Amino acid sequence: MPTIETRNNAKIESINRINREIDIPLDLEGNPMKVSDFYGENLFNVATSTDIPEVVRKEIIEVTCSGKRISKDHADVVANAVTKWATEKGATHFCHWFQPLTGGTAEKHDAFLTIKDGRPIEKLSVSQLLQGEPDASSFPNGGARSTFEARGYTSWDLTSPMFITEGPNGKTLCIPTAFVSYTGEALDIKTPLLRSISKLSKEATRFLNLVGSPDVTRVDTTIGCEQEYFLIDKDFYYARPDLVMTGRTLMGSSAAKNQQLDDHYFGRIPDRVMGFMQELDQELYRLGIPAKTRHNEVAPGQYEIAPIFDVANVAADQNQLLMATIRAVAAKHDFVAILHEKPFAGINGSGKHVNWSMSDSKGNNLLEPGQNPHQNLQFLATVAIVTEAVFRHATALRMGIASAGNDHRLGANEAPPSIISVFLGHTIEKIFDAINQGKEFTGNDGDTFLETGAQQLAHLMLDNTDRNRTSPFAFTGNKFEFRAVGSTAAVGFPVSILNAAVADVYKESADFVESEIKAGASADQALMKLTTKWVKNAYNVIFNGDGYSEEWVKEAEKRGLPNLRNSAEALKVLKNPSESAFLTETGVYKRSELDLRYEVLAERYNTHREIEFKTLLGLVNQSVIPSAIDYKQQLGEVIARQKSINLECSVETEIYKKLNFAMESLYANVCNLTTAIQGLKGTTEEISDRIANDLFPQSEVIANFCAEIESIIPDDLWTLPKFQEMLFLR
Ligand code: ADP
Ligand code: MG
Repeated sequence: MPTIETRNNAKIESINRINREIDIPLDLEGNPMKVSDFYGENLFNVATSTDIPEVVRKEIIEVTCSGKRISKDHADVVANAVTKWATEKGATHFCHWFQPLTGGTAEKHDAFLTIKDGRPIEKLSVSQLLQGEPDASSFPNGGARSTFEARGYTSWDLTSPMFITEGPNGKTLCIPTAFVSYTGEALDIKTPLLRSISKLSKEATRFLNLVGSPDVTRVDTTIGCEQEYFLIDKDFYYARPDLVMTGRTLMGSSAAKNQQLDDHYFGRIPDRVMGFMQELDQELYRLGIPAKTRHNEVAPGQYEIAPIFDVANVAADQNQLLMATIRAVAAKHDFVAILHEKPFAGINGSGKHVNWSMSDSKGNNLLEPGQNPHQNLQFLATVAIVTEAVFRHATALRMGIASAGNDHRLGANEAPPSIISVFLGHTIEKIFDAINQGKEFTGNDGDTFLETGAQQLAHLMLDNTDRNRTSPFAFTGNKFEFRAVGSTAAVGFPVSILNAAVADVYKESADFVESEIKAGASADQALMKLTTKWVKNAYNVIFNGDGYSEEWVKEAEKRGLPNLRNSAEALKVLKNPSESAFLTETGVYKRSELDLRYEVLAERYNTHREIEFKTLLGLVNQSVIPSAIDYKQQLGEVIARQKSINLECSVETEIYKKLNFAMESLYANVCNLTTAIQGLKGTTEEISDRIANDLFPQSEVIANFCAEIESIIPDDLWTLPKFQEMLFLR
């Protein structure tokens, strides 16, 4: 347990740190290189590699778009080219890099070194490129061990580029892969994401082909992830066992000043943080991750980075790499990056706003309101389809963002509630209102819209880029922003659910317009009729007001919108056939995969919470109570001395009583929680329910008493770094 010295040293260390100087890439004359000159140097680019002949390049592009398999001969060419490239850059090892259900990434390294005819050479064989065999039983598999064989396979994902990571003393080539069990069950995040991308492409393409774009051959999902995080000095971090063990502070008295003045958001970036951000951007550029935006976030000590969007599979991999890079670069600057959704109670938590859209094979963004009436109608229909998808599959979308960490954030400070609603902005809302009421929509300058096909939508939308930061799912001009996703999330999971939901509605929409057109309707008439159908059906999910307000919770209940308040509730959607059927019907998940995800995610929720409880109890028993006893001792001595000379000591007695009461209440709750933990038995679901409904609220009561004690006892008796120090000293 930390002592007063630990805390004081941390303060001194953090204030006196010398800013790290970073090596900026220089050209031959010693001038700083432009970013475009070193961008992607650690990324293996099939398109520009001179060791890959045109036929192979063509096949790879075809395979990437069609999901077919690459021929072994051509894979061999790639294996040789990438070996040459990576070893020339100093890589000694390669690994299959994948995203198991832990939410992080996994890698097992092998050396390029091979002995051939008694001589050492560097080689990556074609079979090593195509497939790996990690032991599946050591990764979360939801008890699948008994039914599946323990063997698991990683297989090369051609659609995401290979890259080199640099350790302190060497480099490794990472090959993005999918991870499946012996019997073909997806044990990872990527496999279902890839399926969802294909499925959405198929359904959306069919739809577009029917309604006036016959030459569209494919639709890509595009995502851009805005990543929020906190930076705190490493000495504070290591002096807070709760941060080390659980990623968040389990207790703490709020600082007098936190974010009330709104002075941090977009404020000047402190030099030490700026140094970190510059090095982070540089590392990301090397990896071909197009970091674009960096700024202070709302809470003190909180920051954001956003790269330029890409196709979903690549962007999802990049986000994993980005999180790892944030952590690694932070350490070089003696910071610890905290990616938890709610590291400090009382101030903003961190999200990962996933900006989502679709782009057709001609490069058109399907959520861009076009310039002519037909495009406008197609755009409105697309918005209506997505709105219907979110309405219809709200519980599944809520499930997709469920985690112990995100439970703290949803519905708390500046975070969207657990109720999934859609914000559309002023213009579309007006149009949808009119559609819902069966009226014609009249534009600002008097032109009718619906009759003529929403003529000036693009123009009108320009003036309506207003933002609603309180919505979990907001339309922001030419894309939707899924704001409820947690900062630590592996985005491939929620995006796979969203894609499946939208694909589900696209399928019905294509069937609908097909029959309308067969019955003699024009494409535009069919689009209008479809839009009306979905707007009327999904009208209740549209909400443009303040999503953070209590009134909304009540209003949403009246509207019949689901409100799954915690992960224990939300994850059950995976086991509920009616709510998850679309995931199997679209082929994005198999039933067995949903079952195993329930087990893995619920168990992870339980384990996270159990670790938190045990850490909290340890802190109370070994730090909070001893500090409180020390103060009682001091007070007791004063009270006794005053009494011995017949002096009143009402102040000391008052404080003593207050402290004593807080301690007694704290201890009673500690005993209850300790007993409750010992009594945790039953199925994963039973344990989840008990934790969410019973134990977790108890732990919050304990945290509140700890905060009260912290605010009573003298600063020099408190051993844990305080919020104000962690958040403000650097
Ligand atoms: P904001 O005002 O919300 O910060 P930005 O334009 O900065 O909006 O975009 C935020 C994120 O959305 C970035 O990662 C950006 O690349 C991404 N984005 C922009 N357009 C699209 C799109 N069509 N599809 C997916 N993501 C997009
Ligand atoms: Mg945004």
